[in-house]
Amino acid sequence: MTALVEIRDLVYEYPGFRALHSISAEIEPATITALVGPNGAGKTTLLRCLAALEPPYSGAITLDGLDIHGEPRKSHEMMGYLSDFFGLYDKLSVEQCLTYRADAQGLDEADRQAAIEWAAKAVKLSDRLDQKAGELSRGLRQRLAIGQAIIHRPKLLLLDEPASGLDPEAREDLANLLLELREGGMTIVVSSHILAELEAYSSHMLIIDDGRIVDHTAIRSTEASEKPVRLAIELSEAHPDFEKLLKNEGELIEISKTAARLDITGGPDSRQSLLKRLVDAGLPVASFGPERVNLQDAYIERVREGRQS
Ligand code: ATP
Repeated sequence: MTALVEIRDLVYEYPGFRALHSISAEIEPATITALVGPNGAGKTTLLRCLAALEPPYSGAITLDGLDIHGEPRKSHEMMGYLSDFFGLYDKLSVEQCLTYRADAQGLDEADRQAAIEWAAKAVKLSDRLDQKAGELSRGLRQRLAIGQAIIHRPKLLLLDEPASGLDPEAREDLANLLLELREGGMTIVVSSHILAELEAYSSHMLIIDDGRIVDHTAIRSTEASEKPVRLAIELSEAHPDFEKLLKNEGELIEISKTAARLDITGGPDSRQSLLKRLVDAGLPVASFGPERVNLQDAYIERVREGRQS
């Protein structure tokens, strides 16, 4: 697949301090990349470079083939950005904030009202259109800022710690919103320290530490592909045919008397027929499903490995 974003040998320096050391990465369209790393790793710096707000010392970033630092205005039409600390015009109402941003993004007047209604609905602020931004709680301000960032339905959405200040329900709403936007074709890069949440919606994880990429991996397949899925199967009690039944079903990674992990291809159909065979053969299947990737464990392991090498 052709990448939407290409970062090539990106070096960024603050006066007297190199914050990004020759970073290269590609981001595929319609993916959600979790940008993670310890405090001071360079996440905000990288997001600001991706948003064409910081010119790099060397290297380049292209968005859909466009050199973003060569053409920042054009690239801003294609991207939305929410910084970790942002300001709102407190005296404007929610509707006025969205209108201002729609105008700033150059939306046609004909499309403007629909865009405002869509963005307000997406961030669940439709019932507060008349309230002043300065009267909103922290979480509601966060939602309005996200609404502003997506009003022009950008190809690339960059969010720096968007979940901070949101209550648990709003965090779940944010996760669902990001998934919906991705389904609509948007490509999203989101930084956060809350790995359990990123796990719920991210398709890729980009780990940086000390201004360098430590790992960049797909967390789960973004399309119904022939890639194997790792299944975790658990029995409520041992059954003599467990191993025999699984042997030819895929690559058996690990098996005990009552649990197994197995890589299986063929999508949901092959999983469904395997489950049926196990149940028909009288196996007491207690749980059966794709193994959950534990982002927190993977993250800590990679960061430690990166520091040792
Ligand atoms: P956090 O998780 O704490 O938000 P981060 O991964 O977003 O951290 P950055 O804010 O990108 O990290 O900072 C990367 C490095 O650059 C840090 O060492 C930081 O101290 C340094 N840095 C950031 N802003 C400046 C600045 N304006 N001048 C000099 N150094 C800076």
